Amino acid sequence: MTAGRRLLVRDLAQLATPAGAGAPLRGPSLGKVDLVKDAYVLIEAGRITAVGRMRDLPALGDDVQELDGRGLCAVPGLVDCHTHPAFGGDRVEEFSVRAAGASYEELHAAGGGILSTVRATREAGEEGIARAVERHRGWMLRQGTTTWEGKSGYGLDRETELASLRAVAAAGGAPTWLGAHAVPPEFEDADAYLDFALAEVLPEAARIAEAADVFLERGAFDAGQARHYLTACRDAGLALRLHGDQFTEAGAIPLALELGARSVDHLEATGSDGARALAAADVTAVLLPASALFLNRPMPPARALVDAGAAIALATDFNPGSAFCESLPLVCGLAATQLGLAPAEALAACTVNAAHVLGRAEEVGRTAPGYAADIVLLDAPDWRYLAYHLGGDLVHTVLVRGDPTRLR
Ligand SMILES: [Zn+2]
Repeated sequence: MTAGRRLLVRDLAQLATPAGAGAPLRGPSLGKVDLVKDAYVLIEAGRITAVGRMRDLPALGDDVQELDGRGLCAVPGLVDCHTHPAFGGDRVEEFSVRAAGASYEELHAAGGGILSTVRATREAGEEGIARAVERHRGWMLRQGTTTWEGKSGYGLDRETELASLRAVAAAGGAPTWLGAHAVPPEFEDADAYLDFALAEVLPEAARIAEAADVFLERGAFDAGQARHYLTACRDAGLALRLHGDQFTEAGAIPLALELGARSVDHLEATGSDGARALAAADVTAVLLPASALFLNRPMPPARALVDAGAAIALATDFNPGSAFCESLPLVCGLAATQLGLAPAEALAACTVNAAHVLGRAEEVGRTAPGYAADIVLLDAPDWRYLAYHLGGDLVHTVLVRGDPTRLR
């Protein structure tokens, strides 16, 4: 919208936003929503300046654009804090084979999996990667995602990793260097590859990326290698993330605590000790139920984590191999049906808490005065349709910094 110009979104059926202030929300606070029925939102210069009931709407004078919210519910723009959008090709062939019975680890060990995407991403080149990221960003926006993180990790050479990070930054995402995703075929072992990545890629990656990430798992990188990689990345000024406890508990949670990581993501294999450790920590547990569903794996212990007091976030894990899904509304549906989370907990987990993981919780994640005017208008009579209308065509309009895009 034009700077200084005001936009009034009026006559909304409901406006729902995570209650309270600050981030991350934990325990009982995670499930509290501020709900306004028959609501308005006033936006000025891309920021929310007022929210309230229509009957309390003050006289606004001239020079106010209006957007009709009748029949719609407003929630904060969704925040996807874990995606892998920088890839070439697809994995539909592997998907089909796996659907017929082969396991993800078997396909990975057979040289399919991540390394087939590495080949396709290197072949795509800088322009092809930029086009792919832009396309995937459009998919996310149509599902209501207005803030997103995007990882590299399908290049694993200097040129392609940096091109991936530049593509994410150019498309408006928060770039994360997933330099330790897999060991590329030109290296004999993980240690030799990490020596290369830290010496040749990190110095430039640290200028583009906000965070670094590692795939700590049997067959990828062990805890010692992950510590070596993450320590160097932290020293270069990057925030730290870990893929951990996806298939096995291999030490990701203790390492995340030791290094002061922002998050540890996946946690499908986390036991009660891990959940207890996270409960007492300032590390957010990022849960990815679409990935567990896609791979037909056990779901992460979301309820136990929340009840213990851990900070959780929800994300899609959008990627071509293990979660070809960019929909946070679908993830909210999975949270409600598979993770034992209330719609209000799911909402907070993919707005304010996900924003916290990205270091943006003071800017986005709530529909309240002072926050950026990133808002999703749902075509629904009740905001809880966000989790309830599973796979539904819910997103009516998305506002990014006050600019509305009508999607249906
Ligand atoms: Zn991931």
